[in-house]
Amino acid sequence: MKVLKGGTLIDGTGAAPVRDAAVVLRDGRIETVTTATANSWPKDAEVIDCSGKTILPGLIDAHDHMALHGYDLAGRWGLAEPASTRNLRTAQAITGTLARGYTAVRDAGGLDAGFRIAVEEGLIRGPRLYTAVTIISPIGGIGDRVSPSGHECIIPHDPALPNGVARGVEDVRNVVRTMVRAGADVIKCASTGGASSRKGHGPSDAAFTLEELKTLVDESHAQGRKVMCHALGGRGLRNALEAGVDSIEHGCYLDEDSELIPMMREKNIALVPTLLVYEYHRESKSPWVKERSYALQSHHIESIARAMAAGVRVVAGTDAGGHGHPPNAGELPLLVKAGLKPLQAIQAATSWAAELIGVETEIGTVEKGKMADLVVVDGDPLADLGILTDLNRITLVIKDGVTEVKR
Ligand SMILES: [Zn+2]
Repeated sequence: MKVLKGGTLIDGTGAAPVRDAAVVLRDGRIETVTTATANSWPKDAEVIDCSGKTILPGLIDAHDHMALHGYDLAGRWGLAEPASTRNLRTAQAITGTLARGYTAVRDAGGLDAGFRIAVEEGLIRGPRLYTAVTIISPIGGIGDRVSPSGHECIIPHDPALPNGVARGVEDVRNVVRTMVRAGADVIKCASTGGASSRKGHGPSDAAFTLEELKTLVDESHAQGRKVMCHALGGRGLRNALEAGVDSIEHGCYLDEDSELIPMMREKNIALVPTLLVYEYHRESKSPWVKERSYALQSHHIESIARAMAAGVRVVAGTDAGGHGHPPNAGELPLLVKAGLKPLQAIQAATSWAAELIGVETEIGTVEKGKMADLVVVDGDPLADLGILTDLNRITLVIKDGVTEVKR
């Protein structure tokens, strides 16, 4: 039994902070949430004094690429170093993410299910992992391994990361089933290009037909998997919404068509804007990446504001991996700049993220009966969300009731 007492509790539900809270943990679950003065504790209880600190639900990154370590082609194709080195690099990123108070991560492509198994078996410490395995796209989409010279990658696919290129309507079903067979918890597809994609396949260039996307969603849902769709703008963005995906990743140009956000609200489709990655792209050495990132910036902010106003769920995701593995909570101050209140930014990285992943009955809030995933930080994150990016101020990380990090 553990008792976290004396801290201010932000429970992730959106409720106002509660001073002098006490959170009682037993057998990996939250047994009670009360106030510190109200109780005396059993002699064998491990009482942890959290005075001056804030207790939060374990944080969740809903869009990460734990197994990517840069955008360069050689790295992405697995040519830059031995697979063993790369895998250990990924393991280090996973463990490092837990140390930052992130107890759950949804991987948006590139992470094979073996890492999830390794964390579950206790081979390495890490957040709960929900992985998409490989991004699904048509030929020429962002999941197609093709070089700027037009050459296809001749490195065979790792069987744990199958080919994500779907060739036509019927093949879409096969590729979804292949991802599920490889251990995918969620299906990731791409219906447009992106800021960093190859020249000629930009944010408003569509990938997939509406029929292909409908089939992809149908098969994924039949397999009990949600669909997260990389979509920035243009016809491909609209197709994703019409097809009924579960979340739009990036969604930079949602503001360009006034029907899109109401459609998201009506179909309960979430938005994961991933602002952090565009900060990086705006410094890109590739002129077209830089140009696209500046061009979308004001649309992106406007899209988030309109989504929030319409009651669309906005969820925190970093799109880390290509831009390295910076502190995941770096996304939160950016969401506040885009118009969220600090408490909403915390919800975006806790309860709203859990809801999107479909695990809201287990994690995402500090409430009786939930799994004991918590983070304790030194200071008040509502006054300064930057605290959550400072490793020295993340003083305690608990996952499943187990103390993973204590500083
Ligand atoms: Zn991504």
